[in-house]
Amino acid sequence: MVRDIEKILIDTGRIAERVRELGRRISDDLARDLGGDGTDASHGKLVLIPILTGSMVFVADLIRHLPLKLSLELVGVSSYPGKSVESKGVSIRSELPGNLQGKHILIVDDILDSGHTLDVLTRVIRERRPASLRTCVFLRKPGKASVDITPDYVGFDIPDEFVVGYGLDYDGYYRNFPAVATLRPEAR
Ligand code: 5GP
Ligand code: MG
Repeated sequence: MVRDIEKILIDTGRIAERVRELGRRISDDLARDLGGDGTDASHGKLVLIPILTGSMVFVADLIRHLPLKLSLELVGVSSYPGKSVESKGVSIRSELPGNLQGKHILIVDDILDSGHTLDVLTRVIRERRPASLRTCVFLRKPGKASVDITPDYVGFDIPDEFVVGYGLDYDGYYRNFPAVATLRPEAR
């Protein structure tokens, strides 16, 4: 695996530091929404929705910096190649969590590229009338989004290069590489 890596864009130290910062900001915002200390009053109120599989590593780290009472509801999304303006390239593969009405929701994804994934999911979830809906992405490729979507929290803006590691894959591999990196052309 390691010899397929071309260059490290974001090393593990920077990732850890940034995830801690994001955790602090998200906790502050959500605790305010939940009205108080984010413990008893928030029972059953805070739901994190990580998008599988890419956000797995990120969300595992992030939740350990969120000292709030929360539950996780994983959602699978498939994106198909092709650039449909109506987000037809994205479909939700798994059942959405049951009752989201009145709850505070944070959607977590690995990377915002075209924006279609987040666009489709936020629309569907908004229809369930949550009390609040926020989005958090670990990475974003600025200027790439073909839909108008601004996540509430962004870990890092990166150049328009295909990256792997820290949960992101190429053909299912490299998710376990601990840093964000590009692949050697021979590996792709
Ligand atoms: P969007 O719907 O915003 O175009 O795409 C988001 C999804 O595309 C991500 O969840 C991820 O699966 C995939 N993706 C976009 N750019 C990259 C990249 O640079 N590396 C990897 N591994 N996946 C990417
Ligand atoms: Mg994905």
